[in-house]
Amino acid sequence: MVEKPRFLVAGNWKMNGLRDESQALARQLLDLIASDGAPGCDMLVCPPAILIGPVGATVRDTSILLGAQDCHPNGAGAHTGDISAPMIADSGCAYVIVGHSERRADHGEDDALVRAKAEAALEAGLIPIICVGETLAERDAGRAVEVVLGQLDGSLPGAASAANTVLAYEPVWAIGTGRTPTGDDIAQVHDALRGGLAGRISEPDAMRILYGGSVKPDNAAEILAIENVNGALVGGASLKADDFWGICQSCA
Ligand code: PEP
Repeated sequence: MVEKPRFLVAGNWKMNGLRDESQALARQLLDLIASDGAPGCDMLVCPPAILIGPVGATVRDTSILLGAQDCHPNGAGAHTGDISAPMIADSGCAYVIVGHSERRADHGEDDALVRAKAEAALEAGLIPIICVGETLAERDAGRAVEVVLGQLDGSLPGAASAANTVLAYEPVWAIGTGRTPTGDDIAQVHDALRGGLAGRISEPDAMRILYGGSVKPDNAAEILAIENVNGALVGGASLKADDFWGICQSCA
């Protein structure tokens, strides 16, 4: 039997923070690790692209991992304003989020593009965190599992493995709203994703599947205790050191 993967708690800082406060946030997390001890999870912060340098300098040679929020599918070229996966890797990042629902909605990203971005990440030696999740209308129509399995099918690169890729289930209607699915609903989707990985990758039980959508310190323990939940992708609560730390400490 494959050992349960180590929890990953990832903070998606989105388009928030300026340099000084972002470095201060990273330093507060380091202080909490120093005072309370290492949490039972890998800790990842994903600052806005322009702050990867300064935040990376703050967390360099520490246990806090660094990631980006998006990458272009091409390695280089005439793509004004975009950032490539090799650039992200070169900046000290180990992870990159791809296919976040805000990118899918704001920039019209579809599964094929998300897969191309994930492939670019893998080629650059980054671990893509591939996001999937249904809208409220899709959930209300009873299509949540069908939608996320379709996204998995369309977004997962052929070269994905448990070691090089992370999945994140983020119901669109739960992001930033304070609403979360029931534990049974989360379990149903995560079980379905685990089943969807079987046949696609060699060790489906070893791939980390994060839950994201209004995770807070007061609901984290319950969510993280669900069998096929292997961590959390955290937006709003990752902007406050104590809240993010509380979520990390819920990994048991
Ligand atoms: C997110 O955007 O990835 C997210 C989970 O946001 P929040 O935690 O604020 O719902």
